[in-house]
Amino acid sequence: MNRRDDTSHVHPPKRSEEPFQAVAMPVERASTVVFDDLESFELRVERLYDGFSYGLYGTPTSRQLEDHIAVLECGSRALVVPSGMAAMTLATMAVCRGGESVLIPETLYGPARDMAERFLGPLGIEAVSYNARLDASIAAMIDGRTRLVWVESPGSATFEVQDVPAITAAAHKAGALVAADNTWASHLLFKPLAHGVDISMQALSKHAGGHGDLLMGSLAVHDHALFRRLKDTARFLGYGVSPEDCALCERGLMTMPVRMRHADGTARKIVAWLS
Ligand SMILES: *Cc1c(COP(=O)(O)O)cnc(C)c1O
Repeated sequence: MNRRDDTSHVHPPKRSEEPFQAVAMPVERASTVVFDDLESFELRVERLYDGFSYGLYGTPTSRQLEDHIAVLECGSRALVVPSGMAAMTLATMAVCRGGESVLIPETLYGPARDMAERFLGPLGIEAVSYNARLDASIAAMIDGRTRLVWVESPGSATFEVQDVPAITAAAHKAGALVAADNTWASHLLFKPLAHGVDISMQALSKHAGGHGDLLMGSLAVHDHALFRRLKDTARFLGYGVSPEDCALCERGLMTMPVRMRHADGTARKIVAWLS
């Protein structure tokens, strides 16, 4: 073994510049990335939201999936995180501070209700439960401390369909933001951002993943300042996603409309049989 061997082992031959476009999403793994020069290294923080500076803050693979989710949710930006629960905790923590409160429907996904009460409560963020059937009358439950209102339509387990536009209007009038857990309907059947909701969240672990082998969550928004707040909070919490999982999720998205149509047909047959 000589020194030259050592060097050649850490410098693979230059990548071919011949164009290559795989049909499937390419997987790019990275923690540390190489910068062109000292100046671009020093300006790396500016690339937190759009470019690349460190694998934890985004890879071409995770950004591509995020761009895709943003399009599907009819938003301007999206963020992917390690699970649906991570997305719900992140959204709530990015928006609410100690001394403020968050409204959650009684039908909200159980573990998220638990998180709001047992994790956010001790941090001084009060979780106030509301009846999912409330419409504009939810205004009576919103006060000066209310910073965020969660909706889930249809709601977990009992499938109440909420009056999202009325709830959103009441929340906005009082200066509160609205976040939707859009996991059950998914972007195919409901587009919360088109109804005024500020943050549309999905557990991609469910319909998008589609095969029971993926954990991931997404947050889609219209507002760029809100996106930056979510992205900063994800950075502080150290949330990152594996590029393999992103590619798996992208593969799931490709067949999602076909699977959803089939699930719809099957559900209708069961309803007919039951009735
Ligand atoms: C599964 C689920 C979540 C949480 O997603 P995970 O990826 O399992 O953390 C949130 N909301 C709803 C409605 C879900 O079904």
